[in-house]
Amino acid sequence: MSAESKQIEATEFTNPNFEVLYNREQIQTRIQEIGARITGEYGGKELVLVSVLKGSCIFLADLMRSIDLNLTIDFMAVSSYKDGTKSTGDVEILKDLSNPIRGKHVIVVEDIVDTGLTLSRLLEILDSRGAASIKLASFLDKPEPRIKTELKIDYTGFVVPNKFVVGYGLDAAGRYRNLPFIAIVKNLAELVV
Ligand code: 5GP
Repeated sequence: MSAESKQIEATEFTNPNFEVLYNREQIQTRIQEIGARITGEYGGKELVLVSVLKGSCIFLADLMRSIDLNLTIDFMAVSSYKDGTKSTGDVEILKDLSNPIRGKHVIVVEDIVDTGLTLSRLLEILDSRGAASIKLASFLDKPEPRIKTELKIDYTGFVVPNKFVVGYGLDAAGRYRNLPFIAIVKNLAELVV
């Protein structure tokens, strides 16, 4: 790593506008626990992890390596329509799965569930494709703004307050996904994006 990139990294890691909620070690410990649970529950089944791009890519990478089973992965990208800043629940599939999920045991891997509108719609779409089972793993659960209260998260990393968070895959205008921790952005207006 060059001295210049080290400097950029150090600046982001110590940004006073970030309040670290969970650090690298806490995240890894929690993911190992989730992976062990999934390993125990899916033995002998054809398991597919479906990652919803882009935010869940880092969670997927760590989660899949903590599961001691044969599995495959696939990716979807959806755009959720917003009415102002709120999700409306209408989704457009920007990138669909590469392989059919009929007869497979699917775990949808998400970065964060907020209102739950986007994910509810996505689960309906996947449900119509004949999977043997569909469960949901979300790295973060932000329950306060939940509209789809019936949405069940089967595997949750951490429950977070109703604040905007970045890091570990989650972005602000495309940045900060590479931070190895999860942090609350104290002042969104101050964020350099
Ligand atoms: P909803 O559950 O409201 O339909 O939308 C969930 C999506 O909104 C997540 O996949 C994520 O992209 C985005 N989102 C919700 N809360 C946050 C947050 O605190 N930080 C970031 N970076 N994205 C969020």
